[in-house]
Amino acid sequence: MKLVASESLSRLAALHCSACGTEYSAFDLQRVSACCNVPLVADYDLHEPLSRAVIDQADTSMWRYGALLPLLHEENKVTLGEGLTPLLRLPRLAARYDLANLLLKDEGQNPTGSFKARGLSMAVSKAKELGIEGCIIPTAGNAGVALAAYCARGGLKAVVVMPRHTPAAFKEECYWYGAEVELVDGLISDCGARVRQRNANGALLDISTLKEPYRLEGKKTMGYEIAEQLGWTLPDVLLYPAGGGTGLIGIWKAFQEMKQLGWLAPEVKLPRMVAVQAENCCPLLETYEGRQSNCHAYQGRATLANGLAVPHPLGEAMMLRVLHESNGTVVSVSEEGMLAGMRDLGQHEGLFVAPEGGAVWTAARQLLATGEIQPHENILLLNTGNGQKYMDNVAGRARG
Ligand SMILES: *Cc1c(COP(=O)(O)O)cnc(C)c1O
Ligand SMILES: [Zn+2]
Repeated sequence: MKLVASESLSRLAALHCSACGTEYSAFDLQRVSACCNVPLVADYDLHEPLSRAVIDQADTSMWRYGALLPLLHEENKVTLGEGLTPLLRLPRLAARYDLANLLLKDEGQNPTGSFKARGLSMAVSKAKELGIEGCIIPTAGNAGVALAAYCARGGLKAVVVMPRHTPAAFKEECYWYGAEVELVDGLISDCGARVRQRNANGALLDISTLKEPYRLEGKKTMGYEIAEQLGWTLPDVLLYPAGGGTGLIGIWKAFQEMKQLGWLAPEVKLPRMVAVQAENCCPLLETYEGRQSNCHAYQGRATLANGLAVPHPLGEAMMLRVLHESNGTVVSVSEEGMLAGMRDLGQHEGLFVAPEGGAVWTAARQLLATGEIQPHENILLLNTGNGQKYMDNVAGRARG
């Protein structure tokens, strides 16, 4: 289906190959780039000035940045009110660890309990706009739940393929949204193989991380919100739990766009981006530190932070680029470290975060210990999910 951008608020202009830059139409259905078989990235027309007044202040969701989002026609929007999550100060933890300024953006407050809501709201809206009738996704849990919810909301069929060991709450929620769920022995990469086999005829749109260009556009709204919520300044360092990496790549993309738009003053420095991984599955760390040339043969294991159990991220090269461009780094956290981080955020700040969020706080402490983060810096943690869905695995572990 060919789309027409006329009369749309969106400045969407084209897509480009993330490896070689070849341009693709943003007005036809696209998956990965035909030239290099890597993710496609959306470009906007940012030459005409666009003031911050285009932000729709009456809209308290991520859709307030509509001009910089890819949806062309309002009637295709599939929303449950995702985004504009609170940016909380953590004064008690900061005092306890002698830190000047510690912040946490709480993505656990999104519909369906994780930041996957942003990406799936956008991807399902675009699928609807492109005339798609059904979607399929391999998932470690949260993305499947979000796909199921947004497909139900938009009237699309949803097929979710997830590891059999995923905590029950994730599977159950998919059933309640009416999705078809298939369980697979293994990790998300095995689910991905099953999706390719099952969808060989291409009847459904494969919404795998970075295999279509629009989940990234949903995730980038976190970057716009962080800047807006900080009065158009940015933290010194931002820690993000990286699995497939759409958040890391998306937030960095938002920062670049805002620089280009002049929404961030030239003197505003972009933060160092820190990717946080699980010791049980840290392909990015292994590549970053030169122990492998890429993640293709990496063997990952299951982790409490199931969102981080992504052994072969398609966006590895894009993540590495963000780490290099931002002068950032990647660290891994043990299973016990995730629980310790969850305890700290729960007992000192009243936040019941996902193990991924616990990992991010423990990673910050690890980097403070090595001096890679300084106590006087502005530190921003991203908690990507709500702890409640992980109850099967964390129940009884509130004491160390
Ligand atoms: C999916 C997920 C992640 C990883 O997100 P990517 O965008 O794939 O890097 C982190 N935390 C939670 C809770 C998730 O569900
Ligand atoms: Zn290419």
